[in-house]
Amino acid sequence: MRLNDSRGRPLRDLRISVTDRCNFRCTYCMPREHFGNDYQFLAKEKILTYEEITTIVSSLLPLGIEKIRLTGGEPLMRRNVIELVRQIRALDSRIDIAITTNGILLEKYALQLKEAGLSRVTVSLDALENEVFQSLSDTTNSVDEILQGIEFCRQIELPVKVNCVIQKGVNESQIIPIISYFNKISITPRFIEFMDVGTTNSWNYDSVVSGDEMRKIIELEFGQLEKVESNYPGEVANLWKMKNGSMVGFIESVTNPFCGDCSRARLSAEGSIYTCLFATEGHNIRSILRMDASQEQIGNAISEIWKGRNDNYSEQRGTVEQTEDRVEMSYIGG
Ligand code: SAM
Ligand code: SF4
Ligand code: SF4
Repeated sequence: MRLNDSRGRPLRDLRISVTDRCNFRCTYCMPREHFGNDYQFLAKEKILTYEEITTIVSSLLPLGIEKIRLTGGEPLMRRNVIELVRQIRALDSRIDIAITTNGILLEKYALQLKEAGLSRVTVSLDALENEVFQSLSDTTNSVDEILQGIEFCRQIELPVKVNCVIQKGVNESQIIPIISYFNKISITPRFIEFMDVGTTNSWNYDSVVSGDEMRKIIELEFGQLEKVESNYPGEVANLWKMKNGSMVGFIESVTNPFCGDCSRARLSAEGSIYTCLFATEGHNIRSILRMDASQEQIGNAISEIWKGRNDNYSEQRGTVEQTEDRVEMSYIGG
């Protein structure tokens, strides 16, 4: 059964935040002045168990869900997340299971993740120059550790994508080195416009480098880019082809919103469903789950939430009043 929201958009994709904790403090996501030593992360008893998450996924399979993405916070920091992949894979042999990670623990876990049934990995890496990387991710880890993780995935044939958030005056200088490096190893880098998620990252329009601006920078170095049509509905990245045949992607949520095709729901680590990245409130599924609701009842509850969905925040950005209580990316799951 295909389930559509009030704008006719199907529910295809579930992003699951498995933890709100992270080993980095990227300045655009979890700035240390807000996420310091005294920050109260979710208590263990509030966080969904793997069995509870698997029950929710199972209740959504009959509704047409096709993709699961594990995210966070840093998903590889949650103990034995491999077990969750195994449990979801046991539900369905064909469903696409991906993970979004900062890559630091990738080399350690990639093989077990693949063996458990993970389909692919998206690594977030915003700079190749170590100093720029360490400053914007606010970490002492090095770029080389992440590159080793990516290389290891390639060796074991676990498909990898690389995402890179570009901020004005921070890391535009990294666009060309990133393309050069990843094109050589046949990975398509995707550049993301800095978004106004949450309320702690001091976002403003002036800090956004638009897709158009990024393409100008790339064309100066590599020659004209040619737009490529997307191969499936709901694809968030706009793909462009370079003169040498390599591809580069852009996720232009600010200047070229894709709400019309948005088929993603998000499940926070504490078990609330959010129907938009910019939502201010979620729908608490954990409470019905812990009242022993059947899978069918959970599926029905989420169906009702999805049917009532009307979100299109990015299409209205700038025309609607900004709310101060939008949830943080590390909580809702990127
Ligand atoms: N820790 C993992 C990681 O960094 O890949 C998974 C969670 S992180 C919140 C998911 C994605 O959201 C990352 O690619 C990150 O760069 C992106 N992200 C976080 N804050 C963002 C913002 N304000 N604008 C654009 N992308 C953002
Ligand atoms: Fe952590 Fe990912 Fe956010 Fe960086 S972007 S602070 S790695 S959750
Ligand atoms: Fe989807 Fe909300 Fe982003 Fe629009 S703003 S694409 S509805 S998550």
